Amino acid sequence: MTEKMTADVVVVGSGAGGSTVAGELAARGLTVIVLEAGPQKFSPLGTHVRNVYSSEAELAKVGDVIYGEMLVNPSHEPDAFEAAPNWKVSHATGGMFALWMGNCPMPDDSELPDFMPRADWQPYFDRADSLMHIDPQGGGSGAMFEVLLDRTRRALGARPAGREIRPMPVAARRVNGVFKICAADDMLYRDAEPPNTLTVLPDLIAVEVLTEGRKAVGVRAKGREDGGEVVVSAGAVVVSGGTVGSPKLLKASKLEHRPALGAYIHEHACIGSRVTLKPDIRDLIRDDEPVYSIWVPASGEKPWQNQLCRFTLSSDGNRLAPGIREVDTSDIFTFVKIDARPENSLNLSDTETDPFGLPQASPSYAHSRDDAERIGLAMAEHFQIAAEVGEVNAGWTPSLYAAGGSTHFMGSCRWGAQDDGASVVDRDGAVWGADGLFVADNSVIGTPNSGNPTFMTVAQSLRTVDRVVSA
Ligand SMILES: Cc1cc2nc3c(=O)[nH]c(=O)nc-3n(C[C@H](O)[C@H](O)[C@H](O)COP(=O)(O)OP(=O)(O)OC[C@H]3O[C@@H](n4cnc5c(N)ncnc54)[C@H](O)[C@@H]3O)c2cc1C
Repeated sequence: MTEKMTADVVVVGSGAGGSTVAGELAARGLTVIVLEAGPQKFSPLGTHVRNVYSSEAELAKVGDVIYGEMLVNPSHEPDAFEAAPNWKVSHATGGMFALWMGNCPMPDDSELPDFMPRADWQPYFDRADSLMHIDPQGGGSGAMFEVLLDRTRRALGARPAGREIRPMPVAARRVNGVFKICAADDMLYRDAEPPNTLTVLPDLIAVEVLTEGRKAVGVRAKGREDGGEVVVSAGAVVVSGGTVGSPKLLKASKLEHRPALGAYIHEHACIGSRVTLKPDIRDLIRDDEPVYSIWVPASGEKPWQNQLCRFTLSSDGNRLAPGIREVDTSDIFTFVKIDARPENSLNLSDTETDPFGLPQASPSYAHSRDDAERIGLAMAEHFQIAAEVGEVNAGWTPSLYAAGGSTHFMGSCRWGAQDDGASVVDRDGAVWGADGLFVADNSVIGTPNSGNPTFMTVAQSLRTVDRVVSA
């Protein structure tokens, strides 16, 4: 038997895009139903795993939960993507937004689409900044941090105005004295009791967007455990299944938008390394030295972002030299912009289905010659930072992560200025050729970038809300 429900808007997915859209629409008085393929793992619904295991002693547990339990192959396929073996997702309430690190670099002008300049973004950036509780000084403070900041500046020299080296803005705050990373619970409920206009239904896989002519009128879903069918009728549908989930659902619904659907996928190539800090810096480390994060912003001239931080999730005592503690080391990450090209594509099968019953996906993904050149230049800067702050003479090993390692794949339902076959949605996230159908998540970001994308996804999702409300 089919269970029938109605709402003003049905949202598919409860991650960064979905929770932003649903929370904002509910706050404006619309009735909203969110369908989430995964279970509710933590309470409150959608909260960050670090907010559950919040003490310093539980830090290692957070890494175990994220990498050992939460990050899985898309749709729980048994095999990883061959061309992007590190491409993982989270199928649980909050999606990957319940696992993220909260880094929120402000995008450079060169990372914005040319048909949407900064003035078109600023109101949404401001709103995202406030809803996400972004702390511009969240990257750190203290004597050791100041020295690291200084040395990073010395290593790399002057940067363009507005793109100076500084603490990384972080979406986190203290609530009742406890550090709280922004996650889906903040976006859905805004520190208040869940509004009765908002219903989040875990364990329901959306399998089809229902249409009448060109108008989206609802979503058909099936229970993850029991296969029971649920149909939600709504005046508008927002698909926020992430860069793999959203194009799958559009394809399953025969809303294909060839050739753009699934094409032009991009992430930033990710270079990572760890250095033992120089002795004079180690002398400044306090016993309770908190985690820190220094941001070297990307710019048009240098389209890569460097970050010097203590990335607790990659802690590995086995890699430490004798007598060196975790806090004596620093991680360096460099995200390098990769061109968006149609041949880098998430290919969606016409015939084979995945464990969710949606079209099977397999990416084609490779770096171009230009990408490789850029990675080489960025690698040189990465080394300059390592050599300035760390003991590289004792040996130092950088690595280029396998594709997907950034956790930031984007672009499979990319935005565009016109319906010219190279985009799936318009500037507001409205699907070309359909009425009442929107996409709001990382899949929409069609312009290559070097900075962590979630801040932009939240800002763009707020733009989509304005369009849904005005439609
Ligand atoms: C360890 C880690 C650290 C990170 N750190 C940062 C950081 O510091 N800064 C940053 O900007 N980003 C970071 N990210 C990336 C960030 O988490 C993502 O950019 C963001 O969550 C993407 O939002 P989204 O809405 O596109 O997808 P998600 O947040 O992944 O949400 C998609 C949701 O849709 C659901 N779904 C999919 N298909 C269906 C369907 N058919 N029916 C129902 N539900 C469906 C999924 O189960 C999932 O819950 C990090 C990620 C990880 C894993």
